[in-house]
Amino acid sequence: MNTFSRPKILVSKCIEFDHCRYDGSMISSKLVEDLKEYVDFIPVCAEMEIGFPSPRESLRLVGTEEDPHLVKSNSGEDYTDKMVSFAKDFLEKNTNDIDGAILKSKSPSCGIKEVKVYKSHGKAMSLGKKGKGIFGNVVLEYHSEIPIEDEARLSDFAIRENFLTKIFLIADYKETIKSKKMKDLIDFHSRNKYLLMMYNQSQLKILGSILGNHDKKNHEEVFSLYTDNLLKAIKRNPSYKTKINMLLHIFGYFSDELNSEEKAFFLDNLENYRNSKVPFSLPLSVLYSWAIRFNQEYLKRQRIFKSFPSALINVTDSGKGRER
Ligand code: SF4
Repeated sequence: MNTFSRPKILVSKCIEFDHCRYDGSMISSKLVEDLKEYVDFIPVCAEMEIGFPSPRESLRLVGTEEDPHLVKSNSGEDYTDKMVSFAKDFLEKNTNDIDGAILKSKSPSCGIKEVKVYKSHGKAMSLGKKGKGIFGNVVLEYHSEIPIEDEARLSDFAIRENFLTKIFLIADYKETIKSKKMKDLIDFHSRNKYLLMMYNQSQLKILGSILGNHDKKNHEEVFSLYTDNLLKAIKRNPSYKTKINMLLHIFGYFSDELNSEEKAFFLDNLENYRNSKVPFSLPLSVLYSWAIRFNQEYLKRQRIFKSFPSALINVTDSGKGRER
């Protein structure tokens, strides 16, 4: 599998697209820069869309974490309603078919978490509370089913890998179902079996039984059910346990072909992965090399071995280490 469908991604315009921040600057992001070749971006600067120039007076969130208001930092003029109404209108008109979003971290407009909330405008200190930006919050509400991250979180290796895996999977799925043919959907399911097993084994079973279609639903219903359950399957990121379980399932393919030394080598690697001594890609690569060696066509086309373009692989990590 060497070609990837192009995901459609909403992005904060100040990340690699325009000098539109309050101080006239732009944020650089290697990921967004690299993604330009593989993704169709929809860049938007919510603050400029509601009439602000760049540079401009900065905005901030004031009030409570649950009900923050977007105001000018010095004068306190309130732009919350204007921003909410722009966000709803913009998302309704432009983002129905997006596969994910990358928004600017900590921005009172675009942020999706950890945005400082202040007691008031002016010299007031931050309450020490963290909320969501007003535009970012509407994006999260409208698109709760797809991957949405901020550029700071994407500097974490595992978060970035999961984000990329999911957006390319969703884009591939949408491309697949354009034909409206059951055989294409079954083929999609088949080549994504181990990827989905890694994310959520019980959802994988549900997806399989949807395709089994014992209640004789019409094709439209099957497609719609499959779509809902596919997005549920990839909602949470995989854990160590689910990754190891998936690797052992693939390992089972080779139990008659490998000698005891090779088996011990793999199980050692797996143990090292469990103990955070080697990355997940190591045991996975060993399995892929065996799929090639034993010419296991079914395994060779599994998306788990190549879930996004290899040019996007980047092992740098912010070290936040939220997940592995
Ligand atoms: S964070 Fe959002 S609103 Fe602020 S400059 Fe960037 S794109 Fe514009």
